[in-house]
Amino acid sequence: MIELKGIKKAFHQQEVLKRIDVKIEKGQVVTILGPSGSGKTTLLRCVNFLEQPDEGTVQVGDVTIQAQEAKKKEIISLRKQSAMVFQHYNLFAHKTVIENVMEGLIVAQKVKKAAARKQSEEVLAKVGLSDKLNHYPSQLSGGQQQRVGIARALALNPQVILFDEPTSALDPELVGEVLAVIKSIANEGITMIIVTHEMNFARDVSDHVLFMDDGVIVEEGTPDEIFTQPKQERTKRFLRRLSGEPDASLFTQPQYAEPEKKTNLLPKGVVKHVL
Ligand code: ADP
Ligand code: MG
Repeated sequence: MIELKGIKKAFHQQEVLKRIDVKIEKGQVVTILGPSGSGKTTLLRCVNFLEQPDEGTVQVGDVTIQAQEAKKKEIISLRKQSAMVFQHYNLFAHKTVIENVMEGLIVAQKVKKAAARKQSEEVLAKVGLSDKLNHYPSQLSGGQQQRVGIARALALNPQVILFDEPTSALDPELVGEVLAVIKSIANEGITMIIVTHEMNFARDVSDHVLFMDDGVIVEEGTPDEIFTQPKQERTKRFLRRLSGEPDASLFTQPQYAEPEKKTNLLPKGVVKHVL
């Protein structure tokens, strides 16, 4: 269904993806975890050629592209296979909720206006926004805006939906409603790749988990394998850090070492609170 083979990508000599191989079956929900800067967004963007890999092959559905020989026409057909949900929603501020969802259908898929409206109403009902069709994004909460982002992706009826940290920009109290919507879509059997820092959610919703660090997939497996019995030290350290447990290795690094006590260096008579 989705297969990435030998994907490499560099930005100005910096190797951001170092020979990545990923295989995802139809209907699977795959989450990607990893520290900031590890290449998660770049990998996701290679799936739809928003970033063109330097090397490797991308296959989504029945479209396969070899990075070095990619033609414009192939890239257009590859892009039609997927839809993306962004961290910052990326909605059109001057369009209403329903117009935001209709836009892709009319422009990219050449669907007639009346049919696009009907399809958009259906997906907006799925994400619980039937009462907000004629609102503008600025009149919605962040959670509602992201649900519009999800409806817009769903409306395109893609082979796969790519989520790039869909809840990272939200206030904590709004995260739950968005995760619930994503979960309900997952239960419908749509293939999804989700980059997230929401560990409980990832554990709950994923069929397969990838842990990335420094441009490579360090470890992958079922949620149980990754969360309960991770094998790699880097995975263990990442999970410990996220769960807020103290990480012994951190304290051996100079920036976390106990600060030198400077009190003795002060000339006599200087009061302590200057420190
Ligand atoms: P993540 O999503 O895991 O935080 P990214 O894929 O966004 O990681 O970035 C990986 C690395 O690639 C980072 O060092 C980032 O600065 C760099 N990078 C990403 N996109 C670009 C770009 N368009 N130009 C230059 N460097 C980039
Ligand atoms: Mg990112």
